Amino acid sequence: SDTPVTVLGLGAMGTALACALLKAGFRTTVWNRTAAKAEALAGEGARHAATVAEAVEASPLVVVCLLDHDSVHDTLAPVAGALSGKAVTNLTSGKPRQARELAAWAADRGVDYLDGGIMAVPPMIATPAAFILYSGPRDVFETHRAALDAMARSEYLGEDVGLASLYDIALLSAMYGMFAGILHAHALIRSEDIKAADFAPMLGSWLNGMSGAATGVAARIDQGDYAQGVVSNLAMQEAGFHHLLETAEEQGVSPELLAPLAPLMTRRVADGHGHEDLSGLVELLRTRA
Ligand code: NDP
Repeated sequence: SDTPVTVLGLGAMGTALACALLKAGFRTTVWNRTAAKAEALAGEGARHAATVAEAVEASPLVVVCLLDHDSVHDTLAPVAGALSGKAVTNLTSGKPRQARELAAWAADRGVDYLDGGIMAVPPMIATPAAFILYSGPRDVFETHRAALDAMARSEYLGEDVGLASLYDIALLSAMYGMFAGILHAHALIRSEDIKAADFAPMLGSWLNGMSGAATGVAARIDQGDYAQGVVSNLAMQEAGFHHLLETAEEQGVSPELLAPLAPLMTRRVADGHGHEDLSGLVELLRTRA
């Protein structure tokens, strides 16, 4: 393709994104605060801009992948004029509120703003396993779709610009919950001097099998019905869960990664939901009406 694209930020992720764009044939201009990080990419055909302003001038689409919200704001604010009439796709991880703030800032300056969330580590970029979440104006997404698709599969979530980071953080939250479980399981196994590698295949297949539960949980949440077709009722699970915590203590393992679930289960049972499904705990997590 001949569409020029600019990438601001050449950390591990920005470098992977710029590489993918170059490989797909996009005329790619790069900038990084520490200029030396652009050298390898320049060797592969990227244009190395010495300043942010020069980088922004080079392309109608500016992909931003910096450390955090503040670094994005500090980098873009001085070149707001040059950005006017261009599209900014911000792939820096952030919060929904920050995306809305940047979108408002951009709108005031005539800049098209698309927020994004990268669901991949750098080596996964431009492989089938990677995807990038987008939210913001649909026409901006469609206009630049080819370049966006060159970095990873694009998942457009809607016009509400906060959605990409909300989904990003929801997916990461589920991932960290999984990591908490994985680490706790390994701590238990290690307490008997069993090699982690000997346990890992069984753990992996168990997690794969259980991942299907996400669909059933969703159906119950959408129906607001946690009582139909229950196969493992909460009262039973609440009783069993204490064995998990006690076993941890007895094996010399801190239960702290799992412990927060126990009082939620107990509360839900006490509220009269012991015959229902575990997924009803979601009703206890809402802190705003
Ligand atoms: P790195 O730490 O490798 O790179 C950080 C980049 O931000 C560098 O280009 C750095 O410039 C730049 N930077 C930091 N502060 C400033 C500043 N004040 N002004 C200008 N530039 C600044 O991080 P990654 O590339 O790994 O991550 C970039 C973004 O991608 C983050 O938001 C991260 O959450 C997200 N992401 C990363 C993933 C990963 O696995 N790596 C996965 C998914 C998302 P300099 O070189 O000069 O220090």
